[in-house]
Order: sequence, then C-alpha cells, then structure tokens
Amino acid sequence: MNLGPIYFSMEILHTIGSLQPYINECKAHQHKVGFVPTMGALHQGHLSLIQQSLKENDITVCSIFVNPTQFNNTNDLANYPRTIASDVQLLEKEGCTVVFIPDEKEIYPSDAFKTLKIDLQGLDKHMEGKYRPGHFTGMVTVVKRLFEIVQPHKAYFGKKDYQQLKIIEFMVSKFKLPIQIVACETLRESNGLAMSSRNARLSAEQRKNAEIIYRALLNAKRNFLSMSVTQLKKQIADEINSCKDFKVEYVEIADADSLKPIIDNKKNNAMAFVACFAGEVRLIDNIHLS
Ligand code: AMP
Repeated sequence: MNLGPIYFSMEILHTIGSLQPYINECKAHQHKVGFVPTMGALHQGHLSLIQQSLKENDITVCSIFVNPTQFNNTNDLANYPRTIASDVQLLEKEGCTVVFIPDEKEIYPSDAFKTLKIDLQGLDKHMEGKYRPGHFTGMVTVVKRLFEIVQPHKAYFGKKDYQQLKIIEFMVSKFKLPIQIVACETLRESNGLAMSSRNARLSAEQRKNAEIIYRALLNAKRNFLSMSVTQLKKQIADEINSCKDFKVEYVEIADADSLKPIIDNKKNNAMAFVACFAGEVRLIDNIHLS
C-alpha cells in the first residue's frame, strides 16, 4: 500500500515548477496542506502560525517573499530586514515541510500579475489603507497569487495585522476560493510589545519604551465603558506621544467586522487600532475592546 510521501527534511523550493508537483503529489494522497505566507525576518510570532499549521495539516508550506508592490515607501522596502539563512534554519527546526522562496519574476512574470482587480468595499479605506496608499492592493494581489500557486486547504494569518486579515477573508469569499482562513493570536514580547520583523530596527531603549503601546491599549480596554470614543482615542494617543521618540500616526476605534470608525458611542464589537513611529520605525497594534 502506498501511503504517499513521507516528510523527512524540509524542502527549500524557489520555483512554481518545483513546488506544484510536490503539492500535487501530497494532495493525490489526501494530505492536507497548510500555508503560512510571510515576508521573512521570522520571529516567534511567525513560528506560532507555523506550529498551528503543523498541528492541523499533513504538510506546511511557508513562503518568504518581500512583496515590493505593497510598500508605498521605497525607504521602508529598502530597510525591510532580510535574514533568509536564519529564517530557513528556524523553519527547519520547527519542522516546517516546505519553504517557498520565489524571486520577483516568479511571482510577477509580467505587469498583468501586479494588480488584482477587486473592490474591497471600503475595508481598505481607513487606518492602514489611509496612511499607506496602495498597500492593501499590493498585499491582496500577492496573497491571491500565492494562494493560486500553493492551493492550500488552510492559510494562517496573524491578528496583529487585523485589517489585512479581514481583507483576505473578504477576498477569499469574493473569489469563492476553497481555502479556510485561520486567524491566529498576536504573540508579544514579555513587555507586551507585539512581535514584528520591524522590531529588529529598534534601539534597546525604543524596544523597552515600546511597552507603552500595548499598555495604552489595555488602559483603553479598561476605560472602555466609562469614557467616550473621543476621550479613549485621545487617551491612547497622549500616552504613546508622552514617550520619548514615539509619535502616533493614527488611533482609531472601529467595528471589528466592517472596520468602519465608530464615531458615536455604539460600543458593540469595537476594536482600537494604533500606528506609531518609534524613531524611524513604524509599529502597529490593536486590541478588542468589547
Ligand atoms: P509578515 O512577515 O509581517 O508579512 O507576517 C506574516 C504573517 O505573520 C502575517 O499573517 C502576520 O499577521 C503574522 N504575524 C506577524 N507578527 C505576528 C505576531 N506578533 N503574532 C502573530 N502573528 C504575527
């Protein structure tokens, strides 16, 4: 009896031509495929997604691709940390089955692949969408492209990038893709700072002071019923801005599903979202308030 492939050591694949036959062989034996798309510079937050996928599937594919079309700022793209050798080691140690590391030509063989036509129904209008124009079009384009290449049963995304998660869920339902999106909790440093590839660019002092972000969000959660939306937003911004080197870009309180800002005091299903700069480094975080 042929039970299909047995997965010993991690495959490191760079081309669609090598990845697809591998996945087809797994699927021919009814093996379930989990997928974790990343931009590399992996940390424990990414690895928690890999662990969840490994638990729920027979094979786990992790992609590493720093997608140029989702960066609205060329400096941010140039400075994005790239640590492929240690990423591969971490994934191997975790027991990941395949790491897919395509180059730009593989993902975008022509300009026709670079912009997915999709109306995101306003999900991309506020918060990150407002401050990073074009970011979500680039992100949703690359994720759809990667989904078509990998064709997983399940794909794993972090709630740290909550607006991204909601846009991907919408895209999957819009195109009726047979992929289950699994939302994973945000992993944090011991001081509460949400883990992020960008944290590597923080000075030791900024990293320590960055605890203010989650602390301000937790305070907002605590005061949620007793304060107005305007007061809550101001309180979060003031707390973060009071920290040396930190500057808030936006604070928003929005509906967890529509992502529309809450302006009245309707407080069901509310979340707080924040983006701020610590020196040159842009950080985001969020919390469920109700
Ligand atoms: P990135 O490499 O930043 O594109 O992230 C790849 C995936 O990892 C996305 O689904 C992120 O939301 C998720 N992720 C990033 N940071 C964290 C974290 N601290 N906890 C959980 N998931 C995370």
